[in-house]
Amino acid sequence: MFSVLRDLGWFFRREKRRYSIGLILLIVVGVLELLPPRLLGNAIDEIVRGSITTGSLLKYIGAITVMMLIIYWITYVWMHKLFGGSNLVERLLRSRFMNHLMTMTPSFFEKNRTGDLMARATNDIRAVATTVGFGMLTLVDSTVYLSVVLLAMGFLVSWKLTLAAVLPLPLIAIAMIFYGKAIHDRYSLAQDAFGDMNDQVLESVSGIRVIRAYVQERLDEKRFADITEDVYRKNMAVARVDAFFEPTIRFCVGLSYIIALTYGIYLVFRNQITLGDLVSFNMYLGMIVWPMFAIGELINIMQRGGASLERIDETTNTRPDVADVASPVAVAQPTRIDFKDVTFRYPTSTIDNLSGVSFSLSQGQTLGVVGRTGSGKSTLLKQLLHEYPTGKGDIRIADVPIESIALDKLHSWMGYVPQEQILFSKSVRENIQFGYDKASDERIMQAITAAAFQNDLGTLSDGLDTLVGERGVSLSGGQKQRVSISRAFIANPEILILDDALSAVDARTEARIIDNIREERAGKTTLISTHRLSAVEHADLILVLDNGHIIERGTHQELLEMNGWYREQFDRQQVENNLSGE
Ligand code: ATP
Ligand code: MG
Repeated sequence: MFSVLRDLGWFFRREKRRYSIGLILLIVVGVLELLPPRLLGNAIDEIVRGSITTGSLLKYIGAITVMMLIIYWITYVWMHKLFGGSNLVERLLRSRFMNHLMTMTPSFFEKNRTGDLMARATNDIRAVATTVGFGMLTLVDSTVYLSVVLLAMGFLVSWKLTLAAVLPLPLIAIAMIFYGKAIHDRYSLAQDAFGDMNDQVLESVSGIRVIRAYVQERLDEKRFADITEDVYRKNMAVARVDAFFEPTIRFCVGLSYIIALTYGIYLVFRNQITLGDLVSFNMYLGMIVWPMFAIGELINIMQRGGASLERIDETTNTRPDVADVASPVAVAQPTRIDFKDVTFRYPTSTIDNLSGVSFSLSQGQTLGVVGRTGSGKSTLLKQLLHEYPTGKGDIRIADVPIESIALDKLHSWMGYVPQEQILFSKSVRENIQFGYDKASDERIMQAITAAAFQNDLGTLSDGLDTLVGERGVSLSGGQKQRVSISRAFIANPEILILDDALSAVDARTEARIIDNIREERAGKTTLISTHRLSAVEHADLILVLDNGHIIERGTHQELLEMNGWYREQFDRQQVENNLSGE
């Protein structure tokens, strides 16, 4: 049950000072709070005996007042320490979680859904923070504080009466262990359901245009209603157990009072304790009501925190399937790229997505990759990013196996324009400067000109500072592509990868961009995949893929002479171009 505290041991060790001070003060306050009831009991006994004077009464009142002021101050300090720790652990856990996500490879994000990850990063981390703050408070109150009050009851009043009054305590313990297990299981289910719901919201909001276009609003509402119903039912299941805590404890507290009162009065009549003793005892009894509740809260909070921490750890304990090498081989320049008999399949795929792919490219050359849709063009280009565990065969850069090159180094060479544009909800300028924030305006304009985006700039409301909206919704498809190309250009990467990056621009713009690429990237390596053969005519080597195999290879001229797929495709595109008059 307390495994959550053990698992957070690193945090408590780190914040040793904070927690030592906080907990010691909490106990000091507990002890100080014992004195006013005893003083009051003594005062009553003096009244009963008739020995009270104005002087001694003032002494009692003065002592109680001073005590209260001290308690006030100390309580402030420990509250601050304890609940400050809660905010701190929240921040630490969240940045650890986020840093972990950053090291994860695409396969991780194929398995884990965004909504659920978000639920873990917010809801679950919040629950753990509560455990660290409020949970620690209830832990101390239900153990140390409870014992201190019980000792005071025994030593300062009567052991007999104390033992009788705590008879219902074991009952609470048994009930709490029983409820605790139920809370843990039901709460885990509720949190999972919340993650699913998050995911659904995310998908509905980002897909709203398609949902509207296909008039699927009703169906989507229905799906959402179902999933909120599920979350509701699971939270209600938690609430049903939750609701048992309070009455159970109230019942036990009531029992304690009945026992204390009947037995206490009996003892007063037998002259074993004084009336003042009984008054003090009842005040102490009032003081252990909260610790008894704290036992219940403690179990509840520990179970929730434990379940949430399990969910967080499940994510942070996944190791990336492409780990950085321990001792990378230093490579100064990616002088050549060699694929030798490379066979690769995605972790979730049942067939090879690349088979026996071999080619060599020296620095400064351009590679074209063409082929039917789904033939493996993107897969081939992505091999250079080393996002997935490598398959069979050998991928070498400057004669060093790609597995032995530090990922940071590898990625620093690459400018990658993915087939799916990724823009951030920032300005055009920030999107272009993304990987290279030192870029001057002049350099930005140069990249924009190379990507043939300068004319579009005039049509945007704020030019470079236009906000592109979430995922670039306010730009056209072709504009998004060219912003992405500018982003790749700006750092002048050693290796530029354009994955079907010109698919949404017209033929004339494409020709302009290709010309610019040839000029700007003289001496640097470029890899281009495309459906429009005109984009790779100039390449030093063109590969034609089919089903992950290379079926034809050569330069544009050689491929035309082969009279194969390339020739057929080329002729068809010529006809289309003539028809459309471009
Ligand atoms: P297009 O011209 O449409 O962009 P492509 O030639 O780039 O197609 P790839 O994206 O490389 O094709 O896909 C090759 C094959 O790999 C396809 O059959 C596809 O289903 C599969 N595939 C692609 N990505 C994944 C993935 N992440 N997990 C599993 N299979 C994948
Ligand atoms: Mg592709």
